[in-house]
Amino acid sequence: MDKFSILKQYFGHTVFRPGQESLIDGILSGRDVLGVMPTGSGKSLCYQIPALLMPGLTLVVSPLISLMKDQVAALLGVGVKAAFINSSLTLKQLQAVYQRLREDSYKIVYIAPERLASDGFVRLMQEQKISLVAVDEAHCISQWGQDFRPSYLKIVEFLEKLPSPPVLSAFTATATAQVRQDIIDILKLHAPLSIVTGFDRPNLFFDVQRPKNKMTALRSLIGARYGKSGIVYCATRAAVERVSDDLNAHGIGATRYHAGLSDEERRRNQDDFQFDRKPVMVATNAFGMGIDKSNVSFVIHYNMPKSLEAYYQEAGRAGRDGEKADCILLFAAGDITTAKFLIQNSGDNEELSAAEQAQVKKRDYRRLEQMTGYCKTTGCLRNNILDYFGQNHEDPCENCGNCKSTYTMTDITLEAQMILSCITRVKHQLGYYVGATLIGQVLRGSKDKRILELNLDGLSTYGLMRQESRSRIGEYIEFLAGEGYLYTNPQYATLELTEQSAKVLFQGETVAMPVKSSPSPSLEGLKKKGKKQFTQRNAAEESGLLTALKALRTRLAQEEGVPAYIIFSNATLADMASKAPHNIYEFLEVSGVGEVKAARYGEAFLGAIATYEEGDGIS
Ligand code: ADP
Ligand code: MG
Repeated sequence: MDKFSILKQYFGHTVFRPGQESLIDGILSGRDVLGVMPTGSGKSLCYQIPALLMPGLTLVVSPLISLMKDQVAALLGVGVKAAFINSSLTLKQLQAVYQRLREDSYKIVYIAPERLASDGFVRLMQEQKISLVAVDEAHCISQWGQDFRPSYLKIVEFLEKLPSPPVLSAFTATATAQVRQDIIDILKLHAPLSIVTGFDRPNLFFDVQRPKNKMTALRSLIGARYGKSGIVYCATRAAVERVSDDLNAHGIGATRYHAGLSDEERRRNQDDFQFDRKPVMVATNAFGMGIDKSNVSFVIHYNMPKSLEAYYQEAGRAGRDGEKADCILLFAAGDITTAKFLIQNSGDNEELSAAEQAQVKKRDYRRLEQMTGYCKTTGCLRNNILDYFGQNHEDPCENCGNCKSTYTMTDITLEAQMILSCITRVKHQLGYYVGATLIGQVLRGSKDKRILELNLDGLSTYGLMRQESRSRIGEYIEFLAGEGYLYTNPQYATLELTEQSAKVLFQGETVAMPVKSSPSPSLEGLKKKGKKQFTQRNAAEESGLLTALKALRTRLAQEEGVPAYIIFSNATLADMASKAPHNIYEFLEVSGVGEVKAARYGEAFLGAIATYEEGDGIS
């Protein structure tokens, strides 16, 4: 067997993706490797194929329980002997796995990093021939990375206890040079072959929108993607609750995930999403690393994340099956305040010294600036991301919200002056700063009780912007805050003046705000069309055969109690529908069909295709 026949026979693919072949060759030649490849690019195969070609055992260190479970299920599904060891196993199950390990029954074992410190496990491993250790999500070892897991440091101690050093391979989707160097240094990769592949995900459409009302915008975005699976990321647990309640109240099947839920509920909700019982998952960033669901067709950020790394990682969970998918960020200047608050109050990492912690915070603020830059740029969004990851690119991509729309710069100097001087006057009168709502009320000449009680109706700026809508004034304020003309105090949510405010008020600085003039296609569509039309359009787009194949997949998945994509991915079913194979040889030509799956499911799917074609002939 060679790597090509393994690729075909086990995994059903005919060609390697960029980076895979070099990494596999590197490992097989006995060299340590570091693979930096974006989410969904196929890092798993880079260690799974060598594992099958090398003698002995491959250990895969992986951070999350659910991820291991899925990967092992997928491997068993293609006929690879695999198991996992983590805290979800009962003592009895653990003993069974240990027993089978002693009998050399596995080729690949996934293990949680904290387990590497267990004496029993170490002793067992000292008796085994371990050819390869693969460290997945290797950026978790870097204390500068946002996902630092102290337990990853146990990998190094573990390796030192092995009688002979295995080949070491590390994989991550986090590309910054610093994290890369950390991985090499801490894991002590020996003269590693480093492969950094392109970070572009051409099938993803990126957009940043600034809706007046995020909730309404979210509902229409999801409505327009009826029946599709997607994730909505929120910055806080409270927002997750609010958003998921609202979606459910509007008939959108949404489940939720955050660290405040019981283990039991988290598991159940994740399963509901994974098994397509609920199409939408509303979650904090606690949800994700363990998610290997390939048919996620949109990721909407209800709030801006704290860094572009986090954003790209989360957004990158869309479209892993290679199908077109949308990554939309709903931005409001208030998100910056929330993010700053979260950074300011983030729990300190006990393993770092005070100086190191201060440095981490500083880096966090710098990352936040990059993230904010992405939200505000009027240039190509994809290129903004690729620049951040240090990847060269050419022209604007023509496949993002900004490339597809035009911006007109509108002069809002006058409006800015009115808002800033209103803040000055109110502060002068009351002796303290107030929030955006109150400022908006003064500007619009509100008769609200509080305004009258505080005598704010006597100010010269009272009613100055009477003709503007509340949300319009809100947009100006957000923009001014985003540009630094205003400061939103995260602690009290008050609007305060900055040095830049003075330039506008007294030094004749002009302010121009970009206004998106042709909305992105995703928004355009849903303004005109209702949910129903979209369902019909989707149904019409999808061939009858594909629908039949999907139905069969759902049935098999239910029978076997596994997520549907473990049987076949959407991309595989689409290829199957277009090739419509008539016998097992043609079936094996379908991308994603290997020998084990052909043997297991060939009959059922060939049967469904035959039945469909007969039915088609009659009608
Ligand atoms: P990563 O770990 O890099 O995020 P995965 O290893 O989970 O990505 O792979 C993502 C998807 O790509 C999987 O559905 C996998 O089957 C598919 N894939 C991997 N390699 C290939 C290949 N050479 N050809 C076609 N599909 C592939
Ligand atoms: Mg992976």
